[in-house]
Amino acid sequence: MATNHEVRGSNPLRCNLTPHCLMIESTALGPIETNGIILFCPKTKQAALIDAPFGALEHFKKRIKELDLNVVMILLTHSHWDHIAEAAELKKHFNVPVLIHSEDASSLSKPGSDNMRSFDKIEGVDPDQLLSDGQIVELGNLKIEVIHTPGHAPGSVCFYIPSEKLLISGDTLFCRSIGRLDLPTSQAERMWPSLKKLAKLPPDIRVYPGHGEPTTIGDETFLNNAEEFFG
Ligand SMILES: [Zn+2]
Ligand SMILES: [Zn+2]
Repeated sequence: MATNHEVRGSNPLRCNLTPHCLMIESTALGPIETNGIILFCPKTKQAALIDAPFGALEHFKKRIKELDLNVVMILLTHSHWDHIAEAAELKKHFNVPVLIHSEDASSLSKPGSDNMRSFDKIEGVDPDQLLSDGQIVELGNLKIEVIHTPGHAPGSVCFYIPSEKLLISGDTLFCRSIGRLDLPTSQAERMWPSLKKLAKLPPDIRVYPGHGEPTTIGDETFLNNAEEFFG
């Protein structure tokens, strides 16, 4: 589906250098400012696209060309419409596999089957690989660990790169907040253990969420007691 959504956010995050020169660029895209993320290794030029908001195809095409990268995979943090809107288009254009957790696979194949009302029509796509907790996904020399964090959605995952002190948290953890738990497939009782898992990560881990500004694990002091604050 051709889209013409502008890049939102007055101050999109640009190419932040992490400790080992991994590059991450997170840009707010689409009607509810969902972050589309490019994660890449400047040495191998291999890139992963993380999440596929409305406007992602146009934006990623432009930035991948400007940064002269080679896209090797599309990683999805979960299957809500604002994160998978252009997954099918991205797969077709870049001709790379799409990876998502098994518990969110069906609503990627059939958008709307999770009873979420989308902003616009979305083309479904079958995942090429199903992610599971603890799995390591390799991107060039980088090892990306999959942390299954159900709650906001049953198949929510975070992508953790310990060597770069980096976590991509999807809609599980935001700066000073957490993902909604009132959506059709949300499971609040699974969210609290998920957040406790994240609380165990080192405090200096930088966190790039699915919406809003980045944060660090150490700055999110509520994590261990999230149920008291948000339950
Ligand atoms: Zn979501
Ligand atoms: Zn979202």
